[in-house]
Amino acid sequence: MEEARRGDVGHESKNPYYEGRKYKEPTFCTSCGLVYREGRWINGEVPEDNLNEALCPACRRKRDKNPEGLVYLSGDYLREHKEEIIAIARNNEKQAKSTRPLQQIMWANCDSNTLEIATTNEHLARRIGKAIKRAHDGKLEIKSANNERLVRVYWAREE
Ligand SMILES: [Zn+2]
Repeated sequence: MEEARRGDVGHESKNPYYEGRKYKEPTFCTSCGLVYREGRWINGEVPEDNLNEALCPACRRKRDKNPEGLVYLSGDYLREHKEEIIAIARNNEKQAKSTRPLQQIMWANCDSNTLEIATTNEHLARRIGKAIKRAHDGKLEIKSANNERLVRVYWAREE
């Protein structure tokens, strides 16, 4: 599939997911339908005229399976409360998305011991970790490396 790049203007940022990158207005995300207007991606009507097409930064991350935030949840307590905890994550995504539609959950994968939630945005990962800690106590640790824009959030509660 050939990537639509007609909406790109200005210099190429080194980070292809850069949310502040400029596009021609209006540009339409061919994957999720967000529209770029007045310098940001919003939920809105798809313009009929002068339509440019691109993938928004969130959809680029989804396509590349390249999250900016990873939340790892573990511990015995998680097994009993998994549904509530996933609901907290989804709820925070919903709240974040209402004003910042690029902040999305990319996946929530569960193996026997760990639930991994990937987000398109580091702030959403931090927000989810803090909300779970607030509601369910446990231990929260947030780690970010200097040389990469990826935040890892660890939450655990044993009993
Ligand atoms: Zn999109």
